[in-house]
Amino acid sequence: MQSLNDLVDSFHLYAVCEPCQRQTKLDVEKLIEQLGGDTQVHKMRSNLRCRLCNTRSEDLRIVYVGRKDQEAIFQYRR
Ligand SMILES: [Zn+2]
Repeated sequence: MQSLNDLVDSFHLYAVCEPCQRQTKLDVEKLIEQLGGDTQVHKMRSNLRCRLCNTRSEDLRIVYVGRKDQEAIFQYRR
């Protein structure tokens, strides 16, 4: 499973709220400060709550954006 440390360089993390259809970009660096870099991403799901409708968001979207020192954007790798 991925931890926050795995994401900080190359990925953006979005919380998705089904009722409002909102996507909120999460600040991975701030999450690492608050929760620690070893935090598993899937464990954060139950702690997310939409600020607008107060619904717990279970849906996290992880988007690969490439390393900061590279140009490759939206290039998916396995
Ligand atoms: Zn909402």
